[in-house]
Amino acid sequence: MENFRFIALSETLDRQVVPVNYPSNKISDYYGSMVFNRTVMREYLTKEAFRSVELAIEKGFKIDRKVADQVASAMKAWAMNIGATHYTHWFHPLTGSTAEKHDSFVNPAENGRAIEEFQGNELIQQEPDASSFPSGGIRNTFEARGYTAWDPSSPAFIMENTLCIPTIFVSYTGESLDYKTPLLRSMEAIDKASTRLCQLFDKNITKVYPTLGWEQEYFLVDSALFAARPDLVLAGKTVFGHASAKDQQLSDHYFGTIHSRARAFMRDLEIEAHKLGIPLKTRHNEVAPSQFECAPVYEEANVAVDHNQLLMHLLDMVSRKHHFKVLLHEKPYAVVNGSGKHNNWSLATNTGVNLLTPGKTAMDNLRFITVLVNILKAVHTHEALVRASVASAGNDLRLGANEAPPAIISAFIGEQLTRTLDEIEQLPSHEGITNGMNKGALNNIPKIPEILLDNTDRNRTSPFAFTGNKFEFRAVGSHANTAKPMFVLNTIIADQLDQFYDEVKNLTDQNWKKEDAIFEVVKRYIKDSKPIRFEGNSYSDEWKEEAAKRGLSNTPNTPDAIKAFITKEVIELFERNEVLSHRELLARYEIKLDKYIRKIQIESRLISDLSINHIIPTAIKYQNTLIENARGLKDVLDSKTYVKLSRNQVQNIKEISDHIATIRQYVEEMTSERKVANHLHEAEQIAHHYCYQVKPYFEKIRYHVDKLEMLIDDGLWPLPKYRELLFIK
Ligand code: ADP
Ligand code: MG
Repeated sequence: MENFRFIALSETLDRQVVPVNYPSNKISDYYGSMVFNRTVMREYLTKEAFRSVELAIEKGFKIDRKVADQVASAMKAWAMNIGATHYTHWFHPLTGSTAEKHDSFVNPAENGRAIEEFQGNELIQQEPDASSFPSGGIRNTFEARGYTAWDPSSPAFIMENTLCIPTIFVSYTGESLDYKTPLLRSMEAIDKASTRLCQLFDKNITKVYPTLGWEQEYFLVDSALFAARPDLVLAGKTVFGHASAKDQQLSDHYFGTIHSRARAFMRDLEIEAHKLGIPLKTRHNEVAPSQFECAPVYEEANVAVDHNQLLMHLLDMVSRKHHFKVLLHEKPYAVVNGSGKHNNWSLATNTGVNLLTPGKTAMDNLRFITVLVNILKAVHTHEALVRASVASAGNDLRLGANEAPPAIISAFIGEQLTRTLDEIEQLPSHEGITNGMNKGALNNIPKIPEILLDNTDRNRTSPFAFTGNKFEFRAVGSHANTAKPMFVLNTIIADQLDQFYDEVKNLTDQNWKKEDAIFEVVKRYIKDSKPIRFEGNSYSDEWKEEAAKRGLSNTPNTPDAIKAFITKEVIELFERNEVLSHRELLARYEIKLDKYIRKIQIESRLISDLSINHIIPTAIKYQNTLIENARGLKDVLDSKTYVKLSRNQVQNIKEISDHIATIRQYVEEMTSERKVANHLHEAEQIAHHYCYQVKPYFEKIRYHVDKLEMLIDDGLWPLPKYRELLFIK
């Protein structure tokens, strides 16, 4: 029997497919209609003002006050035309989500009426009273004020009658309190470094920017069932739940026909996303039941990150209309796959070239190989930092589980490229090239066949895989603000490219030919970065051993992993590239620790509450029924038959008692450990204690609760079960 309470609960809702009010079947008719994009700007701004905004977007020029007034007035006119009543600075504080504080356009006028106003200074800068956002101590010591400042490179948009203006968020002293600021700074660093390098190959390249195409995984769950699971409501994940007899064993959900309820939701989601100019392109069922994925066409990284944040908001908003809840936790259910975000990353130039596309000419190929090898070298040097960039309590449960990349960072480049790099490595030395063949290094570059573009070579187990013309960073968590892995990647690669340039310059200063010098350094980098390359199965235990031999780190837990952010080398790296200061890094480290502590604390309290208030009373109730039943049997049966027949019954009662006693004991022990943790003074120690003394009880308690779930009458069980949660009906 299915659990009647929850099925009844969920059936009280209209579970029919929600009819969607489609604006038009032609997406291009409404695509971007809620975005203050270049087309709108051209219409609403004078030529000079438009040019000024363009220069701000493309070259980072400052917008003067007069132009800002014009832009503000244009934004207001446009926004009011389509029904906006409020405006807000929209930013990414270090909580990980987005923040907004709405102001109405309206101001009282002297005649007792009101007028709508929005001025340049309100567009450029705001001072929200945002003192409750985490600052890692940055704002305690100075003024508590925080400022938001307009980012013209990400277009303003309208959501639910509010004009949203993407901004950065900094402290009174100018220190970053958000995700966008370091991302923008890292984009400047990688632009500078890559452009300088590209000039060695092509003088027409004057700008390089990172591109990002994310793939977002998520779960859908019926909202009534969701509401009946306190763990889903409070922690976004289930803390208990026996595996369903069937879940993903048959792989029948992956790429299967999308359930009509889910499809109606997706269509609605896509309409909202397209109106906001988010170029959603693909949708499909993922591996676990009720797990899905969507992906847009890639964009410039800053806009792509904003769009991902917006999309996560839309997922939540639209799902409510369809009586679903979207779960973005990295591991909402044990046993079945968790959710990630695959970040497809590359570098594009103003000349329309993707620097990770193998070239047709030898010179283009040398450029491609140079960029590729620098990326490998950067990821090798900073593998621990790359791992740290995706660390979170939720993602710890996913990385290293049997379905996701492990906590060990390695790079996959495919057979063809491996062969190419091996060949380059074996080529004669610089002297050999110039003296022996006297033809220059270029002629020795092995050809890279175009088939590479076909993506034929795939390795789903690699956390950082080259897929033809981009790297796919697969270890990012589904809930993460993806700016962090992006600014880390941009920064390490910018730094590496600078180092490469300097080494080449050093050789050309000694009269080496440019190509020979490039070739020489590339060869050395291939050798140096070899340990980061791994083409095998990253899920295997052999890889763990092999990776350890290669000196790669393997830090499955966030408190250990994030230490990589505050090593001397990493602090110097971020300061050298002007992405984050020492103080900003320390603040972020504190915030991250604090977040980890709170997450584990919440989960631990939940486990205690559910065990004591839900599970144990239910177990006792059922046990009493068994006891009563046994007593009754004694009354009606002769003693010989009774002894024979009641054996099972008594065994059952004993088993339930054992589980109850063990759960109680573990909950008590876990609570004591929490108390110990809370009395420690340093955040690092507290996080460590939560990780190593509190968290291990989660699995231990769960084991016994899940056993009880199998022993107790289904009708009594107080929580919707996996088989109910995981399947859309
Ligand atoms: P998969 O086969 O891994 O699901 P897809 O072919 O669906 O991958 O593409 C995944 C993402 O990669 C898409 O968002 C796509 O736009 C993005 N992508 C393609 N080329 C680039 C690029 N040059 N830079 C960044 N992202 C890219
Ligand atoms: Mg992919």
